[in-house]
Amino acid sequence: MSRIRIYALAKELGLTPKELILLLNELGEFPKSATGTLDEATANAVRELYKEKYGKPSKIQIPARPLSIFELAEKIQLDVGTIVHHLMTLGQVSPFHEPLPLDLVVRLLNALNIEFTVVQPEPLSPVTVDQERPEQREEPKTEELQPLAAAKDKTDISATETETSAPTPGGEPIPVTQTVKPVPPDFDPNRLVLRPPIVTVMGHVDHGKTTLLDTIRKTNIAAREVGQITQHIGAYEVEWDGRKITFIDTPGHEAFTALRARGAQVTDLVILVVAADDGVMPQTEEAINHAKAADVPIIVAVNKMDKAEADFERVLAQLAERGLIPTQYGGSIACIPISALKGEGIDHLLEEIILQADLLATKADPQATPWGYVLESRMDPRKGPLATVIVEHGTLREGDWIVAGKTYGRVKQMTDWRGQRVQEAKPSQPVSVLGLEDLPEAGDRVEGAPDPKTAREKAEARRVKKEAPPRPEITLETLYAQGEDGKTNELNLIIKADVQGSLDAITHALERLEHPEVTIRFLHKAVGPITETDIDLARASKGVILGFNVRLDPTVRSVLQREPVDVRLYQVIYDLIDDVKKAILGQLKPKIVETVLGQAEVRAVFRLKAGTVAGCFVRKGKIVVGSRCRIIRGGQVLGTSRIASLRHFKQDRTEILEGMECGIGVDGFSDFQEGDVIEAYQISEEQRTLQEIKERTPAVPVPA
Ligand code: GDP
Repeated sequence: MSRIRIYALAKELGLTPKELILLLNELGEFPKSATGTLDEATANAVRELYKEKYGKPSKIQIPARPLSIFELAEKIQLDVGTIVHHLMTLGQVSPFHEPLPLDLVVRLLNALNIEFTVVQPEPLSPVTVDQERPEQREEPKTEELQPLAAAKDKTDISATETETSAPTPGGEPIPVTQTVKPVPPDFDPNRLVLRPPIVTVMGHVDHGKTTLLDTIRKTNIAAREVGQITQHIGAYEVEWDGRKITFIDTPGHEAFTALRARGAQVTDLVILVVAADDGVMPQTEEAINHAKAADVPIIVAVNKMDKAEADFERVLAQLAERGLIPTQYGGSIACIPISALKGEGIDHLLEEIILQADLLATKADPQATPWGYVLESRMDPRKGPLATVIVEHGTLREGDWIVAGKTYGRVKQMTDWRGQRVQEAKPSQPVSVLGLEDLPEAGDRVEGAPDPKTAREKAEARRVKKEAPPRPEITLETLYAQGEDGKTNELNLIIKADVQGSLDAITHALERLEHPEVTIRFLHKAVGPITETDIDLARASKGVILGFNVRLDPTVRSVLQREPVDVRLYQVIYDLIDDVKKAILGQLKPKIVETVLGQAEVRAVFRLKAGTVAGCFVRKGKIVVGSRCRIIRGGQVLGTSRIASLRHFKQDRTEILEGMECGIGVDGFSDFQEGDVIEAYQISEEQRTLQEIKERTPAVPVPA
């Protein structure tokens, strides 16, 4: 189910990404860029081809999870006794029956000089859902247990029932939806130039985010030149090795996702700060999930390396276990040891940011109409509304008319983060803008306007639009409408539960609910109450929140009033799973059913002023006005159309039943002949039912 980055696979095989792409081409795969990912099957095919061509197997693969000593022994072809011996020399005495933590496995492999790569662990073995089901439920449990995925091999539901869609194989990895960013109307891809990357720092509280941002700002040459008089405008720029980087000055995923929920995807790159002494903590996981949901690449800064308790290896293992496979393990996530306090490793981190930015090739059209976002805003008692704007496209100049959300104005004055007046702001450059009529909100779109009238009208139009009563954009029921033809529908879920045990049970059960046309994607799952940040995440990523034995506190409730998303609370795991199952079924593309209504035989043709009418006898069923019809001559279908008119003895009728005579007019057809048959039919969409899926799903053995 997991995907591997092209870069990571190239690294694993000791190839350049280009060489790897050549191998892929041989396999008939043509990835668009080297920054993409491959599914497991393709990756394995490449590994095979590599082995065939170069005669050597790729490095051994270690799953990113704790490993039993026996499993390890088999992987590295050593006997258990030898492994135990080596573990003892590492000062580790591990009981046989307990799996070895990943960091210990890695230490051991390093000690043994065994080359390896860490890969995403294989999917969990099926877990029975019914364990969680309350006894009073009546449904037979084997049926309830049917994982919809079982249908994918045997009976391809989509292929047998829908005419239109090409079935997507079930179990396919989640296609990460490429976020298509809006661009200004006069955007021209031929004018694109590189722009500095925009970076947000995230991580658990007290792991050193603020210290890192301060250290980077202070060590930056540009700041020193101006004598350290910096202003807080919500973002600042750093120049390193001749390259610029923009840092968002509000650390944490809360602000990041709040902006996204308002439609502003500002960040290109996330720096995840993990304290080396503390390791991965709940907010680290939350940050990982928020960055992943936004499809923003992550660089990890393993901070506080100056501390005696710092354990770099353990952090790497913890990250790997959460799907971020470090480059040290053959993965693609750069993990840089730093000390934000002592300023160590910062250069290396900045270098990595530039490297990633080059891979991402963040680009902008500097000649387009100014286009960007409000990062934050405040009222200056003397100057009036001040807004920090990050330009995405175009160049913002003093004197420009702009619309910012529901307000507008003329750029009277612009200052950068050092408090210096600037005449223009280029893409990725944050500036504080003076001159708006009113305070815009963080995340508001900023757009250049040709004149004051247009600016005012646009702002007014947005004001009117915003006043519509808010409704959730996506609910469990409406997810169905989300998918487009031929695409896998995604069901984006945020799961919050009271305790880890129920969270695990829910996740395991949901992971088994696969279907060829629907993919469940977990945006975030955690223990704890539903927070405002969860709501932002749901809004930003079109998700639904499922809470198990958790409450909605009044503040969160009031946020829901303003920014509604679909939140569902459950006390019974079975009910939660059942609802998701129903949502999946709702997501199934409807079955197209044709029903023949009846047939009429043409016995005479009347060419009237108003059009040609066929004098008919209804042989079978009925003919209904407005229904679809086909004209059949000698067993051949001449064409299809609609019944335009239906008459019985000069009277208009809506339908004529079997055994009666009538005059039929057909839309756009007049060339009737005696003996033709007019067949009326209708097309309807039939929702598939749970029962139907069960019948089509072959029984799977229930694991003991
Ligand atoms: P934030 O909550 O993530 O923004 O964390 P802060 O930057 O406020 O740092 C929390 C604490 O950790 C402060 O007391 C910092 O001085 C300390 N700290 C931050 N970075 C380092 C580091 O590299 N080494 C050590 N020893 N302490 C650090």
